[in-house]
Amino acid sequence: MTDFMRTPLFVANWKMNKTIPEALDYAKKFLMLLEPTTSDVFIAPPFTAIEPLSSYFYHAESKVVVGAQNMSDLLDGAFTGEISASMLIDAGAKFVILGHSERRRYFKESHDFINRKAALALNSGLSAIVCTGETKDERAQGLTHDVILKQLSEGLKRIMADEASSLILAYEPIWAIGNSQAATPEDAQAVQAFVRSWVKSQWGEKLAQQIRIVYGGSVTAENAKEFLMEKDIDGLLVGGASLDPKSFSDIINLN
Ligand code: PEP
Repeated sequence: MTDFMRTPLFVANWKMNKTIPEALDYAKKFLMLLEPTTSDVFIAPPFTAIEPLSSYFYHAESKVVVGAQNMSDLLDGAFTGEISASMLIDAGAKFVILGHSERRRYFKESHDFINRKAALALNSGLSAIVCTGETKDERAQGLTHDVILKQLSEGLKRIMADEASSLILAYEPIWAIGNSQAATPEDAQAVQAFVRSWVKSQWGEKLAQQIRIVYGGSVTAENAKEFLMEKDIDGLLVGGASLDPKSFSDIINLN
C-alpha cells in the first residue's frame, strides 16, 4: 500500500505554566507570528486557560486547536478535584494528552488507568494523544521495544479499531524530555516505525497508515526539521520551546 498523506501535527504542551492573561497574550503574539499553514496546530494550556484560549482562537477565526493535558477516567460524581471529558469539551477542548511521562512518574498513573482515560476520551469525542517512552536505563539495557510494547498493548487495550481513528500516538523518550538531549532523528524513527507496526498488528494496515505518531523530547527550531523528514514522524510534541510564541511558531513555520 502506498503511504497515506498524514497532515503534520504540532502540539504545544505548556504543562503547569501561564495564567489566563499570559495565555491570551501568547495567543495574540502567536497568531501574528504563525505563517499560513496546512499543518494542524494544537495547544494544551492548563485547564484554567482552555476556555479563554479556545474562545480567543474561535473569534480570531484561527484553526489553532485547544486541548487538555489530562482528564479523569470517570464520567462525573463525588471525585474532588477531578475534571471530566464533558467538562473539557464544554470548555472548548478538542483533544487531551494522556499518559505523559510526568503523570506516569509523579502521579503514578498505571497503564490500566491510562487505558480507561483513553477509552473515555475517545468515546466522548475528544482526540487522545497517548504518550509512550522509555527511561535512559531501559534504553541502555536494550528494553526500549519491550517498554513501548507494554505501554501500547496495556495502555490501549480497550480501544477498538473504529475508535482508534481519533487516536494520536506520541513517542517521548523520557531521557530526552526537558533537557537539550533530543533523540537522534534515526533513533526516533526506528521506535516510531515499531509503533506503527504495532498499530498495524492491532487495528490493520489502513489505520496504521492513517494514524499520526509525533515525536517529543527537547524539540527546538534548530532540530525540528530533521525529525519531520523521517518517514514515521508525523509531527512534534513540544514542551519547553512551546512556551514562547516565537520559538513555537518558528518550529511550525519551518515546515
Ligand atoms: C514534553 O514534556 O512533552 C516535552 C516534549 O518537553 P520538552 O520539549 O521540553 O522536552
